[in-house]
Amino acid sequence: MEGPVMGILLHEVKRSYSIPIILLHMWSRRDSIDYSLKRRATLVSYFKGAQAKVDICDADPYLRLAAKHHGEAVERPCPVCRKQEMVVLHYAFGDQLGQYSGRIKSIGELNEMQSEYGEFRVYVVEVCRGCDWHHLIYSFKLGDGQTRKPPRKTS
Ligand SMILES: [Zn+2]
Repeated sequence: MEGPVMGILLHEVKRSYSIPIILLHMWSRRDSIDYSLKRRATLVSYFKGAQAKVDICDADPYLRLAAKHHGEAVERPCPVCRKQEMVVLHYAFGDQLGQYSGRIKSIGELNEMQSEYGEFRVYVVEVCRGCDWHHLIYSFKLGDGQTRKPPRKTS
C-alpha cells in the first residue's frame, strides 16, 4: 500500500477515535471490545476502491435521525468525508433492562444506570452527519454486578 491511501490511513490511525474521557473513567466498565481493526479494514477496502461509498456510508433513516437528535459530538473528522460532523451514539442492551434494552442513552444516563442495574452492555456507534458513514467502534459492560429483575412493563 502506498500513496494517498497510506497517507490517509496513517492520519486515521494517528488520530484514532478517542473514547469520551468520562467513559474511560466509569468505574464498572469491563469486558471491553474494540472494533477498530474491523473499522480500519472497512476503510482500507474503501480507499483501495474495493468498496463503494454507498456501501459504507449507508446509515439508515433511523440511524440518521438518532444521530441528528441524540448524537454526542466527537472531536475528530469523519474518516471518509473529513468533515467535523461526527457524533457517537450509545446503545444499551441487557436482559435486566427489560423493555428498555436497545435504547439510546446519553453519557449522563449511562453514568446513573451503572448503579441502577447489575449488568448491561453499551455499544458505541459513530455516525457522520455529513456523509452517513457509520461504524461500531467500541462496546463494554456496565453495572454494579447485582442481578435485578427487569423493570415491569408499564402499558
Ligand atoms: Zn463523513
